[in-house]
Amino acid sequence: LERIGAADEAVHAFLQVTEDLALAAASRVDAAAAEGRLAELGPLAGVPVGYKDNMNLTGTRTTCSSNMLRDYVSPYTATCVQRTLDAGALPIGKLNMDEFAFGSSTETSAFGPTRNPWDLGRVPGGSSGGSAAAVAAGLVPVTLGSDTGGSIRQPGSFCGIVAVKPTYGVVSRYGVVAFGSSLDQVGPFARSVEDAALALNAIAGRDELDCTSQPCDVDFTANLAEGAAGLRVGVVPAFMEAAGLTAEVRAKVEEAASALEAAGAVLVDVELPHAQAAMSAYYVLGPCEAFSNLARFDSVRYGYCDPGHADLGSQYEASRERGFGPEARRRIMLGSYLLSAGVYDTYYYPAQQVRTLITRDYLDAFEKVDVILAPVAPRTAFKFGEIGDPTEMYLSDMFTISINIAGNGGMSMPVGLGADTGMPVGVQLIAPPFRDANMLRAAAALE
Ligand code: GLN
Repeated sequence: LERIGAADEAVHAFLQVTEDLALAAASRVDAAAAEGRLAELGPLAGVPVGYKDNMNLTGTRTTCSSNMLRDYVSPYTATCVQRTLDAGALPIGKLNMDEFAFGSSTETSAFGPTRNPWDLGRVPGGSSGGSAAAVAAGLVPVTLGSDTGGSIRQPGSFCGIVAVKPTYGVVSRYGVVAFGSSLDQVGPFARSVEDAALALNAIAGRDELDCTSQPCDVDFTANLAEGAAGLRVGVVPAFMEAAGLTAEVRAKVEEAASALEAAGAVLVDVELPHAQAAMSAYYVLGPCEAFSNLARFDSVRYGYCDPGHADLGSQYEASRERGFGPEARRRIMLGSYLLSAGVYDTYYYPAQQVRTLITRDYLDAFEKVDVILAPVAPRTAFKFGEIGDPTEMYLSDMFTISINIAGNGGMSMPVGLGADTGMPVGVQLIAPPFRDANMLRAAAALE
């Protein structure tokens, strides 16, 4: 708490510090320890954990960094949050993000941006920028974020920490404010692969309240010490030659490939022939799902209510106009257009077909390899305001989006600082569906 008080004014990772909740949980841990019952509390006993502010925690505000939900108080707790509490965690606070998770820099937060602890003039990435920066600044050892197109992995890379987006279905989405329900997945940020694996152990598994969650009895720490010997690691030549990939990031991915090879892994070239269409498919599917999910913020059921309107139509209009920021409005307008009669068949339906092709590409590639090594983002953390054009911002996720489209797991593993910018670089490890342990093992071999 002292460290957050001293350092977070500059970083602005936290939107709320839930001191009372953390101290109450800490005294329960102390009492258990005094009675010799610490082990009963679980693997996160006494560990402070922070949560992206799209995750409900009873009695705390859950704002999604939006004016729309500025005063919204959670009436219940998300399953992923509850599971950390059940494992003994101390809920330390709620973390800044891009508004409703739309963005790659945390600059769209209605409460001001989070700054990258490595260089306060640069962005921490996004949309889970607060979750990444809080860990990188040493304010909290573990946080949770959510990833719809790259929002765990890209800020993990920009902030130089371990960041895991598990396979879709590994972690329950119940109680996490939805962006793209078929793409969203919760995962941990931590400073070591083992810490991330322990946090994943706590939150993974079937939840009756999310019908897309799957049973999971994997211990994600089990094979971290196995090393890379015999691991078949795929490299995608088209990713390495992609326009926009900076030389310093490419060099780090190549170094990681060599390090894995030196540790006994076998490098195999794999093709993902439809991956270049992932970005186009995502910016159809994502806004369509977001448009549908954000319809509930109508000033009556949820969200900011603009006062003084005589009729419901003008109340809806003014509340949504004032409650949502520019990027949220852009996504809503895009989604409403793309799902309208006549337009649907031209964009939404083909995007779903592309989704099937990309999913098959990954399944074919994973016939040959255990894990794929790729860049996370084309570049390191950029300066505030440096990327003003939204479509240029969308390119931040060119290497992460296809994984959400296919649904398998991906993670960012820090591998040092870029030669040109001196900022952290992460490499992406991508696993076959429900073989998330493979990528954690490969990451541990790079640690
Ligand atoms: N940057 C992407 C977007 O703006 C992904 C965001 C996310 O994963 N939540 O949609």
